[in-house]
Amino acid sequence: MQRRSLGQPRLDGIPQAVIMQMLIMNSLRWTRQRKLILDALRGRKDHPTAEQVYHDLRAKGTTVSLATVYRTLRALARQGLVRELHGEGPDRFDPDTSPHYHFRCTRCGHVFDVAVPYKDELDQVVVGPGFVVSFHEITWEGLCPSCRGREGSQNDEGR
Ligand code: ZN
Ligand code: MN
Repeated sequence: MQRRSLGQPRLDGIPQAVIMQMLIMNSLRWTRQRKLILDALRGRKDHPTAEQVYHDLRAKGTTVSLATVYRTLRALARQGLVRELHGEGPDRFDPDTSPHYHFRCTRCGHVFDVAVPYKDELDQVVVGPGFVVSFHEITWEGLCPSCRGREGSQNDEGR
């Protein structure tokens, strides 16, 4: 047995083949998880949170942690494969990466696509010298039909 100093873990004692195998296993796992999570999001129009995607996967019998789902969704967003939506509450994810606008319900947090054509000309805005626009985003806010319905009935009861 070779003597190794404590503290810093060293890779030089590990055979190259083992390191290669570890890298391959890791990237296989990553590829599988990525595909699984992309598939879970694909076709969805409701802009789910990482937690919703996680619950869906669990319901289908997939064992994956919430942290992995979140980390993977963020990574997919960085790679431009999904769109990440920020706002109040947890981040939401959109499999539709084409330019389009959103409506966010301020009560339940649900995000809906808005059928307003994307206005490329808004990218021509001049912010000031040295600024370059790469993208613009418009999100309308208000109440969705089901929250509006609930609000109505609450008001009726309360008054
Ligand atoms: Zn709502
Ligand atoms: Mn959308």
